[in-house]
Amino acid sequence: VTYKAPKGTHDILPDESAAWQRLERTVRSVMDRFGYDEIRTPLFEETTLFTRSVGETSDIVKKEMYTFTDKKGRSLTLRPEGTAPVVRAFVEHHLGRGRDLTKLYYVGPMFRYERPQAGRFRQFHQFGAEAIGSADPAVDVDVILLFTRILEEAGIAGLSVALNSVGDAACRPRHVAAIREALAPRRDALCPDCQERLERNPLRILDCKVPSCRELAEAIPSAIDFLCDACRAHEAAVEAGLAAVGVPFRIDKSLVRGIDYYTRTAFEIHHGALGAQNALGGGGRYDGLAAELGGPPTPGIGFAAGMERILSVLDKPATPRLPMVAILSHDAEGEAVARRLLYKIRTVTRAEHFGGEGNITKKFRKANDTGARLAVILFKDEIEDARKGVLTVKDLSGGVQEQEKQRKRSEEEFMTDLRDLVKREG
Ligand code: AMP
Repeated sequence: VTYKAPKGTHDILPDESAAWQRLERTVRSVMDRFGYDEIRTPLFEETTLFTRSVGETSDIVKKEMYTFTDKKGRSLTLRPEGTAPVVRAFVEHHLGRGRDLTKLYYVGPMFRYERPQAGRFRQFHQFGAEAIGSADPAVDVDVILLFTRILEEAGIAGLSVALNSVGDAACRPRHVAAIREALAPRRDALCPDCQERLERNPLRILDCKVPSCRELAEAIPSAIDFLCDACRAHEAAVEAGLAAVGVPFRIDKSLVRGIDYYTRTAFEIHHGALGAQNALGGGGRYDGLAAELGGPPTPGIGFAAGMERILSVLDKPATPRLPMVAILSHDAEGEAVARRLLYKIRTVTRAEHFGGEGNITKKFRKANDTGARLAVILFKDEIEDARKGVLTVKDLSGGVQEQEKQRKRSEEEFMTDLRDLVKREG
């Protein structure tokens, strides 16, 4: 048998890791400056956490969850998204106690049983942030700016912020009634799922992925046209806040997020290269979520960004590496000294040992192939010196060099040289 990574998953190979690490560093650095602390929740949760929050009629819950039963018969689900787990943890650990606003972020894998296609995976990665405790539209603005700042610092130009309001419990009923009214005559043109949604939760029709439903959805009334006064004022304040900072945005009346818990602000960030269907990420307000999960009523807002999507529009950086030191030996005595030096030099930088009784020129060539800058020579004549703490060091950076270029350095001086070299190269 031969094995492959499961359908819809992908290995992140060594030549891609530098890009992932760079993006993660950017995320952590900006989150820190915006005052967000990291939270790490389990990769699986009780299934009902998601059915209650994301919603029974959402695509995620209906089709995309990795749900399994454990040995005690409990139903568990690999997390398809990060907000419900974070809010669950917020409620469980009373993280809001003594604070007006709790600002949390996460980075990690999510799992959705999707039909694999370009930019869609079954295991993918998100980073996201949640600001829990305030209904102030200034927080919405701050969360959107946090997201744009991360993307900018990650190196993405040409961002576009799409903004909408999906209303709240006060104005939603009028919107839902208007959707029902608009779609009732076209019921037969909807997919079977959407026919059910028309009864149970017409809002979810707006994010159906079936093309014919998409077409119908374009014609149905938008939430933003049905806002109550409070939601309208909130929406206007978010617009004004973004305008004040000078971050460009556009109102997208058709923007809905495929999750039930959203209220008021909904937003997505797109990038030209990916097309309108493929957002880098999105988010919104979820003022009813904490209460839905059994906590005290606590407003909140957050976003999630797809890391594979973001990386797909960025150039691959070279892997930043520490300078390499090669240690060359030729016999058992040299080998013993080499082992000790290897362990010591690796406190400071990278080091590899090229030993055994093979051809010396070949050893130098192998050392050069690893990009070694310096070599410590431990052939016959050099071992005695090395035992006394005097190393024979050859500079390899100019390629193959003559024997005269060897220098004697005390072991301590050599270690200091290495530390300086590492520091100089940042
Ligand atoms: P969502 O939570 O569905 O709004 O997703 C937020 C972001 O995560 C999206 O804009 C995508 O960038 C990314 N994303 C969502 N689902 C997937 C998936 N199946 N594969 C890859 N990226 C995804």
